[in-house]
Amino acid sequence: MRLIDHVISGHGGGGAGRRADVFDPNSGSVQAQVALGTSADLDRAVAAAQAAQPGWAATNPQRRARVMFRFKELVEANMDALAHLLSSEHGKVIADSKGDIQRGLEVIEFACGIPHALKGEYTQGAGPGIDVYSMRMPLGIGAGITPFNFPAMIPMWMFGVAIACGNAFILKPSERDPSVPVRLAELMREAGAPEGILQVVQGDKEMVDAILDHPAIGAVSFVGSSDIAHYVYQRGVAAGKRVQAMGGAKNHGIVMPDADLDQVVADLSGAAFGSAGERCMALPVVVPVGDKTADALREKLIPAIRSLRVGVSTDAEAQYGPVVNAAHKARVEGWIQTGVDEGAELVVDGRGFSLQGHEQGFFIGPSLFDRVTPAMKSYQEEIFGPVLQIVRAPDFETALRLPSEHQYGNGVAIFTRNGHAAREFAARVNVGMVGINVPIPVPVAYHSFGGWKRSAFGDVNQHGMEGVRFWTKVKTVTQRWPDGGVGDAANAFVIPTMG
Ligand code: NAD
Repeated sequence: MRLIDHVISGHGGGGAGRRADVFDPNSGSVQAQVALGTSADLDRAVAAAQAAQPGWAATNPQRRARVMFRFKELVEANMDALAHLLSSEHGKVIADSKGDIQRGLEVIEFACGIPHALKGEYTQGAGPGIDVYSMRMPLGIGAGITPFNFPAMIPMWMFGVAIACGNAFILKPSERDPSVPVRLAELMREAGAPEGILQVVQGDKEMVDAILDHPAIGAVSFVGSSDIAHYVYQRGVAAGKRVQAMGGAKNHGIVMPDADLDQVVADLSGAAFGSAGERCMALPVVVPVGDKTADALREKLIPAIRSLRVGVSTDAEAQYGPVVNAAHKARVEGWIQTGVDEGAELVVDGRGFSLQGHEQGFFIGPSLFDRVTPAMKSYQEEIFGPVLQIVRAPDFETALRLPSEHQYGNGVAIFTRNGHAAREFAARVNVGMVGINVPIPVPVAYHSFGGWKRSAFGDVNQHGMEGVRFWTKVKTVTQRWPDGGVGDAANAFVIPTMG
């Protein structure tokens, strides 16, 4: 059986201990095993990072940026192979895997401009003969713990900025699709990053805990489900680290009576069912305003959903592929049953879907619920599958309250032709990322990504200047170059002021 091992500089992996199965979700079969590392594996990676990082930090930012330029070229040159590898473990269709890689590359493009982003601040003449300047300096060693659903983009969000800022980075990818992160680390080495600057440690909770407790790791970036994000945040902060921990989501799409419903149906089909709904910026809840809007939308959604093509990842005509594993398939189908038991109306039932020739694959057909209410558990929790729920709202204020009061606050969208309603909504909704006639409002790389409420713990977003702030610490220097005279000795015991 093929082993997917760690990438630890100076060591050939070492995955001798526990292992986990890595599936091909299209066939349902085990295609490889991944090493599940220990604190001893992490210690080796930290030692290599400690050896490499000071030299990397001392390399001027322009040269670090050149490594990013080369890395971008290498990833682009390997796009097809990476996308196939990604799809073979995750299950998303090839075009979507390319999107996963491309959105990560956009953060690498941002990181190519790191010399500009790292420029400090300077005040000439802050006091008599005194100048003040501040510098953004790397933290040392940073770590990233990533989810299965974007095995290329999310690691690149983190290591692109962290490494460009002069840090060494240790990545702990999801054990469900660990191969693309390994290839990215190899390509970063090929691009000219020194050994030890980007390493991959494979594992599960044991490795996560080792990272959170390791005294030499200064910052941890986590993306995954909310309970684990909260746990990672608390344990990492208790160990004195800087932590950002992004969690789950339940994004709502508000549909105003004046919206272009054909456009909404097209947008919703992709946003709710693309990647089998396994996106933290998926749109699994639609909130039509008024029964007339709801009835019209429902009638248009039913045929659109029934005509979705579910297929293997390599089927160029398929709109989405299988979910990641059998346990997740069972979980999603369990949520559909919960929705039925709670009294929601199951309009389209995706359970029992079977793809001819791939009967053991982890496929789920698309489902549509109507008359879902805020009291239902299936509304309150994240399903993370190809399931769209209609929650009817009588008016704009009710529609605005639904995402605002939900425990998650990652993304939200409003569909309308009314600029005033859109502006009001964007200003008042209690959610971190807002789309106006944009169903998946993932910010571009030079802005930053982050939700609110239980969708993110910590106070700094991913990538953009927020990422630069997360991966650096500020040093501020107050300097005076006396001309040889003696200073004001009488006031030496008073806190200095510049007055
Ligand atoms: P997950 O929480 O199961 O796993 C995330 C990471 O945590 C993995 O690396 C995993 O190995 C590790 N982990 C798992 N169990 C652990 C435990 N008990 N203790 C410590 N570490 C543990 O998440 P997932 O299923 O891989 O990803 C899907 C989730 O991620 C969804 O909830 C989705 O909304 C969320 N997500 C959020 C964002 C965001 O930016 N907010 C982006 C993508 C995905």
